[in-house]
Amino acid sequence: MKPDSSLFKSIVAAKCPRCREGRMFPAGTLYHPTKFAKMNESCSCCGQSFEPEPGYYFGAMFVSYGLNTIYFVAAWLILDGLLDEVTTPIMFATLAGVTLALLPLTFRWSRSMWISIFVRYQGNKAASSPSTATHP
Ligand SMILES: [Zn+2]
Repeated sequence: MKPDSSLFKSIVAAKCPRCREGRMFPAGTLYHPTKFAKMNESCSCCGQSFEPEPGYYFGAMFVSYGLNTIYFVAAWLILDGLLDEVTTPIMFATLAGVTLALLPLTFRWSRSMWISIFVRYQGNKAASSPSTATHP
């Protein structure tokens, strides 16, 4: 395994979980207002399908919920440390801003984490045997 092919880096960069080289999302669309959610259909390196079945990413909603909880706790701790009094309007405005600012990243990370649960890393041999299977 190459040093740059760790699971963590693969998830953060939204790479294919099978070969950790192909992109799950088209390049240059992360903060495009209408294209940030567009996914590639399959990996350009190993052929892994990124939408194996309809509704596949339903479970990613729970991952997204967990990520937003982490953001909210972090925002609350930072605000509590910076301000003498954290009022409800300040907290809601901050949380709305954090949620909207991180929406594209949260969307991609939650999908990347979700598919990484079910698709195993196969390293270099994945690129030499194209497949659309979710369970190798
Ligand atoms: Zn791949």
